[in-house]
Amino acid sequence: MNNAVFRDLPGQEAVVEQLEKAAAAASAMLAGQQPEPGAMTHAWLFTGPPGSGRSVAARAFAAALLCPYGGCGQCASCHQVQAGTHADLLLIRPEGLSYGVKQTRDLVLRAAGQPTGGRWQIVLFEDADRCTEQAANALLKAIEEPAPRTVWLLCAPSAEDLVTTIRSRCRVVTLVVPASAAVAKVLVERDGIEPARALAAARAAQGHVGRARRLATDPAAARRRADVLRVPLAMTSLGPALSAAAALVRTAEDEAKAVTEGLDEPERDALRQAFGEGSTGKGVAKAMRGMAGAMKDLEDRQKSRATRVKRDTLDGALLDLALFYRDILMIQLGADVELANAGAEPELARAGSELGLANGADLRQVASASSPESTLRRIQAIMHCRERLTLNVAPLLAVEEMTLSLVAG
Ligand SMILES: [Zn+2]
Repeated sequence: MNNAVFRDLPGQEAVVEQLEKAAAAASAMLAGQQPEPGAMTHAWLFTGPPGSGRSVAARAFAAALLCPYGGCGQCASCHQVQAGTHADLLLIRPEGLSYGVKQTRDLVLRAAGQPTGGRWQIVLFEDADRCTEQAANALLKAIEEPAPRTVWLLCAPSAEDLVTTIRSRCRVVTLVVPASAAVAKVLVERDGIEPARALAAARAAQGHVGRARRLATDPAAARRRADVLRVPLAMTSLGPALSAAAALVRTAEDEAKAVTEGLDEPERDALRQAFGEGSTGKGVAKAMRGMAGAMKDLEDRQKSRATRVKRDTLDGALLDLALFYRDILMIQLGADVELANAGAEPELARAGSELGLANGADLRQVASASSPESTLRRIQAIMHCRERLTLNVAPLLAVEEMTLSLVAG
């Protein structure tokens, strides 16, 4: 097999086999040969829990379809897919909290075009579950009456997240959460990370390859994780607890800001250029007035995206925190499962000494300090906080409320 593009999908052998067959059938169709019947179709839905690699799989499939060698991972086409710059790949992420109907109509129009590279026109729709209802209707029309060379790749946590009418027209690809060992193997072999560190990062990232790689290589990611681990250790009294909670919110906001600022300015520059700012001549004044409106639209979209990224980032930190308490619960119940924080002992010890805990800190010490009932209540408090955040409660307020429940135990 020549499909190097699929190598970032550890533990997904069944999915990779299905996609490789489909890509081979698609190539046969382009070459005017008889494809394997039923292997290829024009609409796909990639599902699986967060971190299982939905968008990685969709992106790899797109590369395999567009590459003249079936997804070699080496050629210009493969590199362009990886960089998100391939002319025949429309990469769609929600800019705001959900896709609007206008955004989707533009997309549907573009998707009906001919592929410039002579192979396929691919629309990769990440977080397709964030479509508004009207947008879903526009999308449905496009999928019902597909252009002959257009392939739709939708990603969503589960098939139930999409309306039945769309779901029933897609072939569903289901990814599983890969085992930590499989993820660690990728980090060792591809990124040259030392095995023990790779395994600790893989466990902490719960099978999410990208996150595991960031945890093992990016100091900022490691710092965020330290922030999360400090929270449960600080729950012995209210003062340190509240400051640990505030740090959690602040770090999430800083991280979100770094992400969105990197996107905002180039978008504004591109818009100014599109309106010919700086040029002179007839009609320029009129164009500038048009630009003001477009700029306002863009800034509104950017604001809404910033809110979404901030919320998603904080939610990720809360999930990490819940995962910590799940580990504690497993120890308290004596369950024989792999602990997500099994590799976090050095970080825990460091956080413990920063907080001045006399006895240091490890998972078993934290577990022995409370009961399973209390741990369950704490997990519930975290889940409740996540829910409050989706209702637009101010993040710091919601996290402080949660902290009070965590301290109460
Ligand atoms: Zn290639």
